Amino acid sequence: MPHRFRALFNHTQDAVWMADEAGRIAEANPAAVARFGAAVDGGEPRHLGDLLADPAEWQAVRGEVQHGQVWRRTVRLRVPGADPVAAELTCVAMHDARGGGQMQVIVHAPAQNAGADAMDDLFDARTGTPNRTAFLQHVARALATVARRPEHRFAVIHLDLNRFQRVNETLGHHRGDELLALAAQRLDACVRPGDVVARAAGDDFLVLLNGVRGPADAMRVAERMARALAGGYHLDGQEVFCGADVGVVVGEAEHGDAEQVLREAEVAMARARHTGVVQLFSADMHAQAVAAMRLHGDLHHALDRGQLRVFYQPIVGLDDGRVRGFEALVRWIHPERGLVSPAEFIPVAEETGLIVSIGEWVLEQAAHQLTDWHARYPAQPPLAMGINLSMRQFAKPGLVDHVQAVLERSGVDAAALKLEVTESIVMGDADDAIESLHALKALGVQLQVDDFGTGYSALSYLHRIPLDVLKIDRSFIVAMAGGSKHVAIVRAIIALAAALGLETTAEGVDDPAQATLLHEMGCTYGQGYLWGRPVEAAEAERLLGAGGERVNG
Ligand code: C2E
Ligand code: MG
Ligand code: MG
Repeated sequence: MPHRFRALFNHTQDAVWMADEAGRIAEANPAAVARFGAAVDGGEPRHLGDLLADPAEWQAVRGEVQHGQVWRRTVRLRVPGADPVAAELTCVAMHDARGGGQMQVIVHAPAQNAGADAMDDLFDARTGTPNRTAFLQHVARALATVARRPEHRFAVIHLDLNRFQRVNETLGHHRGDELLALAAQRLDACVRPGDVVARAAGDDFLVLLNGVRGPADAMRVAERMARALAGGYHLDGQEVFCGADVGVVVGEAEHGDAEQVLREAEVAMARARHTGVVQLFSADMHAQAVAAMRLHGDLHHALDRGQLRVFYQPIVGLDDGRVRGFEALVRWIHPERGLVSPAEFIPVAEETGLIVSIGEWVLEQAAHQLTDWHARYPAQPPLAMGINLSMRQFAKPGLVDHVQAVLERSGVDAAALKLEVTESIVMGDADDAIESLHALKALGVQLQVDDFGTGYSALSYLHRIPLDVLKIDRSFIVAMAGGSKHVAIVRAIIALAAALGLETTAEGVDDPAQATLLHEMGCTYGQGYLWGRPVEAAEAERLLGAGGERVNG
């Protein structure tokens, strides 16, 4: 089929088949597959006669169709799992391009005969591409081909647009739709006839490459697609950039069904989100995805089964090395796996929203612990407690009320609580978050920016929120060993903080020379293995014994 007709063939809502002179079906378009695909018990139709409710009718059609003529007739077509439907058949017999005696027959069943609803279920109105349901049927056909010809290979590519939500939010849904249509066009330009580009949902696209030699072929196409999507889009007079996370899977006889192929492509895409490059699915990715899912299931119960603990890491004054407070850091004692690092489960908790209840629980524990320590280890100023708050806790109403309730229940000195937020809090539409931060501040607590310098720091946010402390990310502290330029960055951050009237805490200090240098540069506090790792409350108290004497690393 000429390439210029390919898009029409793929996208029309009419069912269209291509057959040879003898009526053997060579190709069916997505609409045909979707509506009449499994018309024959145990398989898809191979012959136009299979489609007809009365197979004998094919002989009549055959006898009447003349070379070069258009022939129309109302026939009844078989529909899987339903009564036959009347359809207007248009057959066009043509000589093939090489001028041979062969004939092509296009049988065309207009959509209205099958009910428009069924078609709406297969096409995505925004991009004009097949949707996920239709795509699955294409993949099922590709798998059927592999079953017949085991050397045949196909690939499925899952592409997830980045920042699409922001386009929707900032430029409006209309522009968002435009962007999706442009993206679909760019993907279409990367594929060959016989391939399928579909929009799965939201900003997810799926591509079927019918016939690849192996993974290297598929990766090349996928990388080309990633580059094509990354180019700027002109929307509403603005240039918008919108890359994609891309995962690839090569379809093989081992694949049980089309859903499995799509799942694997999605697992690879999820990995790409972390690595930033196009990812090919592999079996160990699957194992990890299963582990993550299990982790997620277990995490649901971790709180009510008492498997979470709060550990405390000392924070010292750099002037005298005395403990001035702690950061509360959650730990998960998993019954089988032992201690699970928060680096592993906090992201899962954030994705699932569990972080909200976990965060509330940590706050409650830490506040009560601090009240107890204030009574037993009085100091001037009183010991402080850093508590991490997740973005997700701000997204949900009730955070401020919860903090207030905890302050009342625990009776803790509010000024000694230092709530930590990351810079991402001010990303996007941050007005609500900023309002919450002001409300928290009004309760009397302190606010600090965690991991400062790693976020999307347009520094302008610094004066919009009522901050007390910048916590300089560990990566800057580690980098200081690399030379004077790195030291200059830390010096500049400390100076910036001082100019804004803020204190600074250096994170991840593990060497006395760093501590000395940081003190000289005017940094207020230090936190790191030099003074102590996060430990259980009882062990933390040993650092407080005898009124908080100097701790040595
Ligand atoms: P964070 O808030 O930046 O916490 C500091 C992390 O640095 C802690 O890791 C701590 O153990 C580690 N650290 C401290 N000193 C050193 C050092 O000298 N060297 C090295 N290599 N690491 C050091 P941890 O406990 O694994 O926590 C990781 C992250 O998980 C935290 O980073 C925080 O973002 C998150 N997290 C932990 N607990 C909570 C929580 O209760 N709620 C929320 N929302 N997040 C939490
Ligand atoms: Mg923190
Ligand atoms: Mg930090």
